[in-house]
Amino acid sequence: MKLILVGPPGSGKGTQADMISRHYKIPHISTGDILRENIKNETALGKLAKEYVESGRLVPDELIIRLMRKRLKAPDCRNGFLLDGFPRTVDQAKELEKLEKIDMVFSLEVSDDEVVRRISRRLICRKCGASYHLDFKPPKKEGICDKCGGELYQRDDDKEEVVKKRLEVYREQTEPLLRFYDEKHILHRINGEQPIEKVFKDIQEIIEV
Ligand code: ADP
Ligand code: ADP
Ligand code: ZN
Repeated sequence: MKLILVGPPGSGKGTQADMISRHYKIPHISTGDILRENIKNETALGKLAKEYVESGRLVPDELIIRLMRKRLKAPDCRNGFLLDGFPRTVDQAKELEKLEKIDMVFSLEVSDDEVVRRISRRLICRKCGASYHLDFKPPKKEGICDKCGGELYQRDDDKEEVVKKRLEVYREQTEPLLRFYDEKHILHRINGEQPIEKVFKDIQEIIEV
């Protein structure tokens, strides 16, 4: 099963991806997580990506495509995968098409106001990237990741001005993807403004028909 999750920043991609990946035993591949890991470790890719990520703009397609071409060749992707945050432009989607046949694309639909509400209270784990919310998904122990014990922090690009930029970038550069996949009849629109478990259930129902 080869799946894609699309949605504005803060729409719940990471949260759902984690549940889908555990339930269906397919790897969760998040380009955002990979980039943050590279930035933290100051790799060559991290150095190239840093200013884009911090300002809320997209990292150039070329870099992302090179990264994904390699990642999708790894043995754990043989029986399927779930992509979170990739593709983000129509050009990335066209490149992906040359590599893989995608079964389903889920679009998590959430308003701008809700995005701001979620992101302003989001915390993520420094070690494993898991995301939490101070009101909607609080960790069991304050400041500590339930899964790995890592330290929770607020992402630099979750500051209000950068979130505005990311939303603008989403509407301009990523939303056209929805039409691209709709024309291929593999797009499923999901109401992302429901409780976490209900969103997951809606996705499951589509996967299991
Ligand atoms: P994305 O990966 O799309 O940026 P996340 O999965 O990190 O989004 O979710 C953004 C924030 O909203 C997190 O703090 C997360 O805990 C919270 N969240 C995710 N899904 C929901 C939901 N259905 N209802 C309320 N809060 C949610
Ligand atoms: P979000 O919570 O906004 O969905 P992500 O963690 O997916 O955020 O991405 C964080 C940042 O990483 C983006 O704002 C962008 O700078 C960069 N990024 C992630 N995936 C891609 C991609 N496929 N193409 C270009 N840039 C990307
Ligand atoms: Zn963790």
